[in-house]
Amino acid sequence: MERMMERYVVIHYHEVGLKGRNRPMFERRLLQNVQARLAGLEIEEARRLSGRLLLKLGPRASWKTVRERLQTVFGIAYFALAYRTPLDLEALKQAILDRLPADGYETFAVETKRANKQFPLTSYEINAEVGAAVQAHTGKAVNLRQPDLKIHIEVLFKQILFYFERVPGPGGLPVGVSGKVACLLSGGIDSPVAAWYMLKRGCEAFAVHFHGHPFVTRTSEAKCIELMRVLTRWGASPYLYSVPFGPIQYEIMQRTPTKLLVILYRRFMVRIAQAIAYREGAHALVTGESLAQVASQTLQNLGTIEAAVQMPILRPLIGMDKVEIIERAKAIDTYEISILPGEDCCQLFVPQHPATTSTVEELEAAEAALDVAALVTQGVEQARRIDVRKAAVAEELLLGF
Ligand code: ATP
Ligand code: MG
Repeated sequence: MERMMERYVVIHYHEVGLKGRNRPMFERRLLQNVQARLAGLEIEEARRLSGRLLLKLGPRASWKTVRERLQTVFGIAYFALAYRTPLDLEALKQAILDRLPADGYETFAVETKRANKQFPLTSYEINAEVGAAVQAHTGKAVNLRQPDLKIHIEVLFKQILFYFERVPGPGGLPVGVSGKVACLLSGGIDSPVAAWYMLKRGCEAFAVHFHGHPFVTRTSEAKCIELMRVLTRWGASPYLYSVPFGPIQYEIMQRTPTKLLVILYRRFMVRIAQAIAYREGAHALVTGESLAQVASQTLQNLGTIEAAVQMPILRPLIGMDKVEIIERAKAIDTYEISILPGEDCCQLFVPQHPATTSTVEELEAAEAALDVAALVTQGVEQARRIDVRKAAVAEELLLGF
């Protein structure tokens, strides 16, 4: 007879690379992020326990939903739906026999980890004892190399956990342990992927978008709102600064050489983003640039763009090619939004073949014709801080009105 057992979720993180003193901070942050992600799902208890996290599911919590959501929490190496018994071998055997899957496997293996070294049996002995009981009860064979079913046992200090399936997490570090970044989000394929990689390294991330309105429609802004909604599932902050860039571009276009326009636009973008980043307490800018993908992304141009700001510009996609970036964009659910039609302000007023090289001297000479500080202030002051959770669904914009 199968007894009703309380359901738990055990969550593991990679311990390698976790520096001793940062560990409690890391664990607390992971726990907070897990709780935030599972908000509303009837989690009765959530705590840190011997190098893992343990959640207790309420009777109405759906494992399927919990599972889906935990797969988007950075810092998780793997997790499992687990059951709990007292520190008692007979109770453990009985509970495992009660919970064994009815069929779907011919062979099995038992794998025990002991956090509690005081437990009277070694891991090896537990494996042997439980293995013998399962074999006697089911008649299935043990196969240590390639079992159809693996029975995992974790002996802790006050209890034993067991489970049958490990679900891989996304790895990385919990969002919030590595400081804050401002992500330049264009509405295209690359920049949301770049933001995702920074979230994966534990950064808090919000977005800054430049739109060319009134010279083009606001579709790129609508796309960025939708993209940020997807990224908040991965732990991004729900804020998008939307900067009216068209008038600034118009001013730049009227006073500077056409072949430098794209790089000049970029220098203004990073300056404005930097000013917003300072206000938000961020320490770096993030772009979706990948080396030599387009004219503005040659080594020389990356350097002259960067020379306009003090803050580091992080480019997590720098060594990736487009195929890899697209694959990632599909896996994280941003691709479908990125490929919707949208008008990119970067194309405004620019020549067909922009310069692939530029020098800081020629750019500064061109900028001498502009009031740089005033244009930056204009961008910052006119930026709208959009809470993407509250923004209206941008359907009509996405349809291209
Ligand atoms: P993406 O796919 O992210 O648009 P891209 O391959 O089209 O990138 P570029 O257009 O050269 O490359 O842009 C390079 C990076 O500059 C973008 O990844 C983004 O971080 C930033 N960027 C470009 N345009 C904008 C914009 N309108 N608003 C905010 N950031 C932008
Ligand atoms: Mg683009």
